Amino acid sequence: MTINRELFDQVMVPNYAPSAVIPVKGEGSRVWDQEGREYVDFAGGIAVNCLGHCHPALVSALKEQGEKLWHLSNVMTNEPALRLAKKLVDATFADKVYFANSGAEANEAALKLARRFALDNYGEQKSQIISFNKGFHGRTFFTVTVGGQAAYSDGFGPKPGDIVHSDYNDLAAFEALISDKTCAVMMEPLQGEGGIVSPDADFVKGVRDLCTKHNALLIFDEVQTGVGRTGELYAYQGLGVTPDILTTAKALGGGFPIGAMITTNEIAQHLKVGTHGSTYGGNPLACAVAEAALDTVNTPEVLAGVKAKEALFRELLSAINDKYKVFSEIRGKGLLLGGVVAQQYKGRAKDFLVAGIKEGVMSLVAGADVVRFTPSLVIPEADIREGMARFEKAVASVVANNA
Ligand SMILES: *Cc1c(COP(=O)(O)O)cnc(C)c1O
Repeated sequence: MTINRELFDQVMVPNYAPSAVIPVKGEGSRVWDQEGREYVDFAGGIAVNCLGHCHPALVSALKEQGEKLWHLSNVMTNEPALRLAKKLVDATFADKVYFANSGAEANEAALKLARRFALDNYGEQKSQIISFNKGFHGRTFFTVTVGGQAAYSDGFGPKPGDIVHSDYNDLAAFEALISDKTCAVMMEPLQGEGGIVSPDADFVKGVRDLCTKHNALLIFDEVQTGVGRTGELYAYQGLGVTPDILTTAKALGGGFPIGAMITTNEIAQHLKVGTHGSTYGGNPLACAVAEAALDTVNTPEVLAGVKAKEALFRELLSAINDKYKVFSEIRGKGLLLGGVVAQQYKGRAKDFLVAGIKEGVMSLVAGADVVRFTPSLVIPEADIREGMARFEKAVASVVANNA
């Protein structure tokens, strides 16, 4: 069998348009394709591979658990799930954990819990969910409808109801929308897919206060920002605002699929036996790997390292930009950074990604106008420098083609 990009078009549903390159091996922040070409990885599997590829602690956790026990379902609990839950509880505001397999599923659980909490405590009229334009919360029908891009939720028939959207960082508009009928507010504490947009300090605090005033639960979607990405274990810890429910996925498993919803005792008790579930949620392999990832990331050295690496990324990216003027702004926090393309490249962020692959560096976009970088949290300085040298060549080629 010839395994190449053409095979994708033959056998895969056409909802993705992957690059022609097929990676076959990774180590740290380097990846090799079928032809043996090597790449510096600034994409990290979309903010997933928080410790790069094949980190020894993760490989050994996977191997060890792989020889012990793979799956039970939630008919029985298991040791890795309990250990991971205890560590998540100890490291955050939360008392209780629900495991899922992805970000969307963690958010689905959060939204269903919020609806149930409001129904039990206040009655049917309190069902409104407020979220933010350009927000991203996953692709199940509930989460994609809560997400702030109608283009992703349109065209699938009737949507889940009583969901409204407000502009991010517009506290006055949000205040006009929220009421005692609001059940929950779902937001990213730094919009990722929507273009790497940080919240204003007054905005997050204001949202928190208004949620409290109207008895609405504040749900932080930390699927992308969680597990060290912004230099804190969770971004809320750097904002001085505590949510009622938090969801985490992507980096949580360091590349192994897992998601989690965490919350307080008071709220958690409303997901009674039988109200919600998942066959794979809390799978021992996933939880064993996630435990190793969390242990490795949740240290002062790694978290401080994220801030140091952010500074180097910004310095090198700014130096490229001083020369080529391709970005109007470099923004984000920790190792969740975005370069907003300048006016003459509007809508063409992907050109930089494509040119990067040719030069041997993997990056991402966040919408049509932002080039996104979400590398490993432990990427060595030498790899940052080498990757940025390659990215400069990519920028030069996009600029040359634009001339
Ligand atoms: C990626 C992402 C999701 C969806 O996660 P999946 O694992 O793809 O379901 C949800 N919320 C945010 C903020 C994300 O970045």
